[in-house]
Amino acid sequence: MSSTEYDVIVIGSGIGGLVTATQLAAKGAKVLVLERYLIPGGSAGYFDREDGYRFDVGASMIFGFGDKGTTNLLTRALDGVGMSIETIPDPVQVHYHLPDGLDLKVHREYEKFLQELTAYFPHEEKGIRQFYDECWKVFNCLNAMELLSLEEPRYLTRVFFQHPFACLGLVKYLPQNVGDIARRYIQDPQLLKFIDAECYIWSVVPADRTPMINAGMVFSDRHYGGINYPKGGVGQIAQKLVEGLENAGSHIKYKARVTEILVENNRAVGVKIASGETFRAKRVVSNATRWDTFEKLMPSTQKPNSEKKWSQRYQQSPSFLSLHLGVKAESLPAGIECHHILLENWDDMEAEQGTIFVSIPTLLDPSLAPEGHHIVHTFTPSWIQEWENLSPSEYAQKKEQAANRLIERLTQIIPDLDRGLDFQEVGTPRTHRRFLGRDNGTYGPVPSRKLLGLLGMPFNRTAIANLYCVGDSTFPGQGLNAVAFSGFACAHRIAVDLGLG
Ligand SMILES: Cc1cc2nc3c(=O)[nH]c(=O)nc-3n(C[C@H](O)[C@H](O)[C@H](O)COP(=O)(O)OP(=O)(O)OC[C@H]3O[C@@H](n4cnc5c(N)ncnc54)[C@H](O)[C@@H]3O)c2cc1C
Repeated sequence: MSSTEYDVIVIGSGIGGLVTATQLAAKGAKVLVLERYLIPGGSAGYFDREDGYRFDVGASMIFGFGDKGTTNLLTRALDGVGMSIETIPDPVQVHYHLPDGLDLKVHREYEKFLQELTAYFPHEEKGIRQFYDECWKVFNCLNAMELLSLEEPRYLTRVFFQHPFACLGLVKYLPQNVGDIARRYIQDPQLLKFIDAECYIWSVVPADRTPMINAGMVFSDRHYGGINYPKGGVGQIAQKLVEGLENAGSHIKYKARVTEILVENNRAVGVKIASGETFRAKRVVSNATRWDTFEKLMPSTQKPNSEKKWSQRYQQSPSFLSLHLGVKAESLPAGIECHHILLENWDDMEAEQGTIFVSIPTLLDPSLAPEGHHIVHTFTPSWIQEWENLSPSEYAQKKEQAANRLIERLTQIIPDLDRGLDFQEVGTPRTHRRFLGRDNGTYGPVPSRKLLGLLGMPFNRTAIANLYCVGDSTFPGQGLNAVAFSGFACAHRIAVDLGLG
């Protein structure tokens, strides 16, 4: 039994957990972060391979590093503990390679993107502009105000009086989904499919189930703060947050898997880790997914009714099959962009291993691969069920077949890929489950049916007193900037609850 009592214990050092921890530490709270793995970051972590490759585990299309407005939450989170990271601007957010020859780039420059899209759909010129302009309205509302906890009435009152029109705008968009707004302006079925793909690549559901608030952020910030890659790899974000946390006098403990949230009289009072050690705190924050938090870290008899209802509204999205490649520089076509989406058949967009996501971060930061080489990280949605009940040799064989299929499909954008291969490693949903500690390796919750926008997504407080959740199982969902938002909100609510300045 540990004798120290902390103000706050955070279970997990994903970006959501670290933003909560650093914001609270900066306000003087004594925080302990417990991380089951060897390094921080979770899905925003990295791994090194002996030949000089440093691979991002997941995220590499990074929002939130802008230098203006209020939605640049990664810049702000680092700054909160006196840290910063040099970033490299990406001139193109993504290059789409879609069915029916739809091959276009989302340029950092808004007008250039609209022109490129309109060239494919000249008859929809007006509708395209109206739709994306409406996304800007959402973004401008968000970007006008300090983004903190919507569960804190005094903040809500203050922000309402400071920005009444922005607040009313957000209230209007909160229950809306992208599909309804897109159909208001756009009729062409192929263009509506493109809008589905625009949503799917980060929400992993089509436009009808993608909340307008999130779309407003993504579809506008890419042209405002832009997509920027952190120098040294995505793992730098978590590393720097940990450095800031420790400078502020708080701590992180690695190889500390929480096995139980200790609850007394329906109040969270601490946690127990796998070694048997317990830690007590005034507040406990879980950065694990809701499935892990309420189904594994506490007895099922304690699962609150609100959580049971939530599980009916939201379901797990699939995990990913990841292919990490090291390739010779000469095998990449000249002028290729960093991020790509490949889909050969519209009907396969949501299918097992349907849409392919590609990221070549060494085009922006060559230091992540040996000289004369690049990283090509490819991932595609895949369900854990596809990878279970296999013998070790069947598992290895299935991984190799899946990798070969991906490489073959990738030759559409990198014709010489096969000849340039220098390194290859495959991760399956089992790998994601094991290393990221996420139930079934899921990317996160998605609406199980069409819901009222973001209204059903829980904030940070839970039905158990003194227990909070943070990260992609909370408002506003997946993505590094989104979980940073959730971290700011969680820290704000706890700071008020603890009476910290
Ligand atoms: C393949 C892939 C690609 C992606 N691409 C992008 C992208 O390009 N851009 C983008 O913005 N987002 C992207 N994302 C999404 C983004 O990475 C996530 O939404 C975000 O990182 C989730 O952060 P989080 O704070 O919710 O938690 P996580 O990253 O899940 O971190 C949770 C942490 O908690 C720890 N933990 C869990 N249980 C316990 C326990 N019991 N005890 C102790 N520690 C525990 C885990 O080890 C982990 O470190 C991608 C995700 C994946 C998987």
